[in-house]
Amino acid sequence: MSRFLSSRYSRLVPYTPGEQPRVRMIKLNTNESPFPPSPKAVAAAAEAARSLELYSDPDCRLLRQTLAARLGRSPEEVLVTNGSDEALHFATLAFCGEASPAVFADVTYGFYPVFAAVCGVPSRVVPLREDFTIDPADYAAAGGTIFLANPNAPTGLALPLSAIETILRENPGHVVIVDEAYVDFGAESAVPLIPKYDNLLVVQTFSKSRSMAGARLGFAAGQAPLIRDLDTIRCSTNPYNVNRMTLAAGVGALEDEEYTRRNCRAIIETRTRVLREMRALGFEATESVTNFLFVRHDALSGADYARALRARGILVRHFDAPRIADYNRITVGSDAEMDALLDATRHTLEELS
Ligand code: PMP
Repeated sequence: MSRFLSSRYSRLVPYTPGEQPRVRMIKLNTNESPFPPSPKAVAAAAEAARSLELYSDPDCRLLRQTLAARLGRSPEEVLVTNGSDEALHFATLAFCGEASPAVFADVTYGFYPVFAAVCGVPSRVVPLREDFTIDPADYAAAGGTIFLANPNAPTGLALPLSAIETILRENPGHVVIVDEAYVDFGAESAVPLIPKYDNLLVVQTFSKSRSMAGARLGFAAGQAPLIRDLDTIRCSTNPYNVNRMTLAAGVGALEDEEYTRRNCRAIIETRTRVLREMRALGFEATESVTNFLFVRHDALSGADYARALRARGILVRHFDAPRIADYNRITVGSDAEMDALLDATRHTLEELS
């Protein structure tokens, strides 16, 4: 820390992103897609690169229109962001404060507490049940801005829409942010609830199901007044927040929804197979509806399993955190990558016996 850093940030503990290795490894640690982006997205980005001398559209008009049409909403109900992390950051700035602390689970996306800290707002942690499920009753009159990852990460478990609706109804005075980063792999989106609840903000990303993690593209959807609040924050921080190539790629990806759906189906199939095989090897695993598995084994600590896989060229995500230190989060990659994971796992278990 330099002697110039504001005292506001002297205790800030930043979010630790998953490792991006410099050597070739099988990367199952950051829930990227094993598939390339749609050729339509790639072609649109290449074409947009020819006009990089110009600023990007600060209103993201074409992408907002295309997204709104896909979601069955109006463009005024959509805000486009630089990854969904930026939407979550803007929402923390806009809606959290002394009168509305950030409320989130003890086991959830690790960026929520960091956003609260960097925005200087209080937070309150609500523990998950023993089996890592969320009890909606724990969020009755939560007294703050609620951050719900649905499906949750790293557990992979989803709440049904009826439970989301209960939480929305019981917190009319606060915004409920439903972070749907993994929704396309088997959960129900809360977007259809938007007309009914003025306190609902849905956040999604192009990083996972649309294979565009490197493009940094996300969005928030909600009733127009909420979106206007977020837009005030956006225009007060970085009005050209999404670059030209990414905007164009986003439209290209949305014009190829069949490609996205096909990839999601393939990932779900691979997930089902690998889950079955991991359980046959003695692993305990949650019923994940995402593009990752969350697993533990009685004979192997979470840290040792991650280390053993790394020694065999495979990266997974181990969180050295309370309640989940025995677990690893493993991205569902291609069939070949998952076969390598299963082989490495079998060898590791054999070496133990
Ligand atoms: N929400 C959740 C639950 C996530 O796991 C992630 C990915 N790390 C994000 C949001 C942010 O994704 P991105 O900024 O790439 O859209």
